[in-house]
Amino acid sequence: MQTRMEKFTILFPNAPAYRMKQMESSAFRPEWTSWNDASIFPKDMREALEKNIPWLSYKKTQILESKSRDSYKALLKLLDGDMIETVLMANTKGLWTICVSSQVGCPMGCLFCATGKMGLKRNLSSDEIIDQYRFWAIFLQEKKLEGAITNIVVMGMGEPLLNYKNVKEAMSSILHNTEIGQTHISISTIGVPAALEMILEDKHWPNILIAISLHSADGAIRKKIIPSSSDDSLEQIAQWSKKYIKKFGNRSHFLMYEYIMLKGINDSIADAKKLVKFVTTTGNIKVNLIPYNRTGSEFESSSDETIDAFFQYLKKHRVMVTVRKSLGNDISAACGQLATKK
Ligand code: SF4
Repeated sequence: MQTRMEKFTILFPNAPAYRMKQMESSAFRPEWTSWNDASIFPKDMREALEKNIPWLSYKKTQILESKSRDSYKALLKLLDGDMIETVLMANTKGLWTICVSSQVGCPMGCLFCATGKMGLKRNLSSDEIIDQYRFWAIFLQEKKLEGAITNIVVMGMGEPLLNYKNVKEAMSSILHNTEIGQTHISISTIGVPAALEMILEDKHWPNILIAISLHSADGAIRKKIIPSSSDDSLEQIAQWSKKYIKKFGNRSHFLMYEYIMLKGINDSIADAKKLVKFVTTTGNIKVNLIPYNRTGSEFESSSDETIDAFFQYLKKHRVMVTVRKSLGNDISAACGQLATKK
């Protein structure tokens, strides 16, 4: 699939570099509704763009709003008919976080995740990832909602590191063309060893945050809930984390482990003890506990008391820990619930 930029260079092979920059930045003007509005280009160029390059990479949308009006989920129909979901959430300061998808479906098959049941259809292009940001920027403007998008989590449908190049391009473009800072973007990965190693060596990888979906510090339990992980995935994550922290870690650029709380599976004090050991021997890593949101799987969420006891145990043992606030449960927009049901 050709990107807008690739189409642009075919359409205008002799265009100077500043025109390419203008082309890229045009996508970040929510007040423009088509190439005809892009007054930075002369009329003949606008006409050629309008005729040859779609302004957006989706054509139909359906939006669900949570009762509390603090989260919205959009179903986007892409130009080839594939469907993806993306979410807008209010954060505590009244500003907005968006959760974007990186693939249509996902091949990783994590048992607690609705997307995992879909299997993989295809990777999203960088335009299709960027356009989820554009969609919500337009939405905020049209709905006259206060604030702006300040944070992005690549935590929607798909495993972002299986779509390394396009996720990298999309995040780099967003960093170049918006006010969003690199520590306000994070990608969440189950841990794809080859891609994680690439990040360590890739000079052009954007310096955004990485969250590893750990979910258990017990190899057998992790393998059970993430069947696609390797038998030695914990060892690999530990070694990689040490290298990452040595190379990039600092107070504002921390590594995060995500931990979904599943009743009777990984939520005992014995599990917390293993997690403390794993985290403290691996490095200075934050842990984010995620209450499980129903996805039609066999699992149940840990009770509030169990989550609190787990949290207190980690805190007592000097692990930096937070509990994620769950938003958008009533519209199936919470973590793990994204799947394009008809
Ligand atoms: S949790 Fe992430 S990696 Fe696992 S199946 Fe769901 S989308 Fe894929």
